[in-house]
Formats: sequence, structure tokens, C-alpha cells
Amino acid sequence: MTLIKERHFVGEIGMLMGQKTFFAGIACTECAVIVVPQDTLRTLIATVPEVSDVIITAFAARRRLLMEWGEGGLVIVGDEGDKTAMRLLEFASRSQIPHRWVDRKDKKGVAALAEFCALPDAGTAVVTGKAHVLHNPSPRELAASLGLDLVANTNELFDLLVIGAGPAGLTAAIYAASEDLGVLVIEGTAIGGQAGTSSRIENYLGFPRGIDGTSLAYRGEVQAIKFGARITAPRRATNLYVKPDHFEISLDDERRVQGRAVLLANGIQYRRLPLDRLEAFECQGIYYVATNLEARYCQGTEVVIVGGGNSAGQAAMFLSRFAKHTYVVVRGDGLKDTMSSYLSERIVQDTRIEVLTHSEICDLQGRKSLEHLVLCNKQTGEKRTINTHALFIMIGAQPNTDWLGGQLSLDEKGFYPDRSGTRQ
Ligand SMILES: Cc1cc2nc3c(=O)[nH]c(=O)nc-3n(C[C@H](O)[C@H](O)[C@H](O)COP(=O)(O)OP(=O)(O)OC[C@H]3O[C@@H](n4cnc5c(N)ncnc54)[C@H](O)[C@@H]3O)c2cc1C
Repeated sequence: MTLIKERHFVGEIGMLMGQKTFFAGIACTECAVIVVPQDTLRTLIATVPEVSDVIITAFAARRRLLMEWGEGGLVIVGDEGDKTAMRLLEFASRSQIPHRWVDRKDKKGVAALAEFCALPDAGTAVVTGKAHVLHNPSPRELAASLGLDLVANTNELFDLLVIGAGPAGLTAAIYAASEDLGVLVIEGTAIGGQAGTSSRIENYLGFPRGIDGTSLAYRGEVQAIKFGARITAPRRATNLYVKPDHFEISLDDERRVQGRAVLLANGIQYRRLPLDRLEAFECQGIYYVATNLEARYCQGTEVVIVGGGNSAGQAAMFLSRFAKHTYVVVRGDGLKDTMSSYLSERIVQDTRIEVLTHSEICDLQGRKSLEHLVLCNKQTGEKRTINTHALFIMIGAQPNTDWLGGQLSLDEKGFYPDRSGTRQ
């Protein structure tokens, strides 16, 4: 609970994003409250730096605190490992939406919730403010119920539409909005892109001690919003139309948005392994990112990471803090050709991590979720079974350009070619 005194201001970063409030305020004594409408607040922040500094700092700190407490925002109720629950938890944590998780096995926790809202007996439920319950919602439905569904309210012609809210899209949004352009960022999954899933980024300008990807993404989001950019997520761009004097982007709910210019910052998506039952085990033991959320499933178990690049290396360093033992599986004879040397040296010296060379996964086993996997050594033909509930596939990525449906010329691997011939 926060006590607000005379001349204090209260608010939360979501106010600048159009998000509905999570909290109710109770006046304990006679008082006068000055309500500042969201648009006025945004204008104030964009035009008066002294006000902006104070308000943004306080709002962002409040959100951080709420995230740390895990209280006050949403309550997500479900079964540990359930796909719907996992997707909602991922969305909430990557979008920095304060939330608390209640496992259905926690009978007391479920009963306490059921006292003030109509909780369904099974499945995943999200309790939002005022005891409103969503049953098995998708991340999109959850976003809409929180008011993050910005496109619903807009017919305007934006100066710039940015597709993708990874570091490139957010950076473009910050620069464009700071030049007073009307910017809409459309993000299909969660703000931060790949960087948002990194447990630690150490080579980014201005962060000598490193920063976790979620925090970096959140800072970028706040900075873009501060300059007036609007961000809608999760919402995918599905097509690009060229009109005589503007562009149109269709979205995955058939809506269209218009912009004088479009910036494609849609990055790449993770490569998958061609293995039977891969899809069945995704989110049920197979993961593509290693954040705090996935780390929960690695406590005390053996963890297998496939890949020899920096993402795999960072994941190994991070997950080995939780896992009983961590294996890094590579097809080649080591890490030195594929991983930054600072990282590969740390891994080689870490006794909690073992690098299995010349190896590939050839089978996945388990009932509902992953329980074992079989590794094949390509040199010796030897097979080895590892009992694990957590396999991380980190074998690179392919460009997210399918949705453009042949509208732009791409190279044979689906990248945008530029004049110098390098991939974009
Ligand atoms: C685990 C991990 C660790 C990393 N660590 C480092 C590091 O330490 N240092 C470093 O320099 N780099 C690191 N990287 C790489 C770095 O994150 C990427 O280079 C960077 O994120 C690329 O930024 P981007 O904005 O171009 O694309 P992305 O980050 O890929 O973002 C693209 C965004 O576009 C969205 N999108 C795609 N298609 C659509 C569509 N049709 N409609 C709407 N949205 C769409 C995606 O959902 C995504 O959010 C790491 C990557 C990973 C995965």
C-alpha cells in the first residue's frame, strides 16, 4: 500500500501507455484530487523536460517495485507447465506487467482468490483489477483487457509505422518520436524482441556492468513512450499495401493502419530442430530463450542447451546457477569458432557446465512433457540418454520476412538485400 500525502502525485507508467489502472485509491480523509488526463500528461512529458524527468523516474520506479513485489497487478492461476499459462506468464513478464502466479496445486492460494471472484474450476484464469476474470485468454485478449489494445482507438495517418519492437524498432521509434513524428510501433510478440529474452547483455553502450534484456527493453519502451510513440503488442503485421500517397499495413485481426513511411525492423525468429514431438514439447520442456521464467523449470535438473553461439553461451552461464548440471551440445569440435572468446573461456572453466562436441539430439522422449533426450555422437556413433526437463534450442534464426508475401525483393535466404550486398 502506498500512502499519498498533500501535494504528492500518484501514477504509474501504464498511464502513458493507455493501460487501464491496476489499483484503486481510497481517500482516508477529506481531500481534493487533481486528475490529469492521459493526453495532457503525455503532452506535458513531451514538452517540459523538468516535469518529464520527475514523473518518468517516479512512474518507472513504481512499476519496478510492483514487478519485484509480484503483487497488485494481475493474478495468473493455472497448472505449472501448462502452455496457455506459460504464454501468459511470458507475455506478462516480458511486458513488465506486474503479476503474481498461483499454481492450482496451491489449494490455499486458489481458495483465497475464489473468495472474491468467480474462478473457474480448471484451466488457466487471469484475475485483473476489480475481480474481473478471464478464462484461458490469449496474450492478445489479456492485452486488450488491460487497454494495451491501442490500435482499436486510432484511425490516424501516422508519420511512421515501425514493424517490430526489438532494439532496432524501439531505437527508430525513439528517434522519430523525438523529432515530433507520429509513430506507431507494431509488435507481434513482446516488446524487446530477441534482446528482451537475453539474461545478460554486456556489450551494449552505456551499461559497463551489463543489463538483462527485459530491463533494457523496458527502458527503451519507456523512452519511446516519453517522446510520444505509441506501441501496440501483441499484434502482428500481416501485409503491406502501397497506396498513392501512403502505406497501409494489415494486422492479424484484419484491421489496417496507415503511415506515410514504414520501417521494417522485424528481426529474426528462432530455428527449430527437425525432431519428432518437438512441437508437443514446446513450452513443456523445450524452450528457445533463457529468462527467469524458464530458469524456474531448471531448478535441480539437468539442462541441455543446443548451440555454440553467444546466445547458447549466455544461457549456459545463466542456467548453470539453477541447474544440477548443464550440457552444451555442439556439432563441431568446440566453441572457439562460434562463440565470443570471453564467453567460451568462462564456459570451459566452469565445472558446472560440460561441452559435448560432435553431438546432435536424435530423439525426444516423455509422456506429456519432456523427460529424456537421446544424443548421438557423430564421430563414434555412440548414443547417450540424458534425463532432463529442460532443453534449450539456440541454433540461430531466420528472417521474419514471410509476411511480406513477395512484396519486396528478398535474397534467397529471405533477407532484405541492401546496396552493399550485405544481409539486413
Ligand atoms: C538470448 C539472446 C541473447 C543475446 N545477447 C546479445 C548480447 O549480449 N549482445 C548483443 O549484441 N546481441 C545479443 N543478442 C542479439 C540481439 O538481441 C539482436 O541482435 C537484436 O535483438 C536484434 O534486434 P532487432 O530489433 O533487429 O530484431 P529482433 O530483436 O529480432 O526484434 C524483432 C521484433 O519484430 C517482431 N516481429 C517480427 N515480425 C513481425 C510482424 N510481422 N509484425 C509485428 N512484429 C513482428 C518480433 O516479434 C520481434 O520482437 C542476443 C540474442 C538472443 C536471442
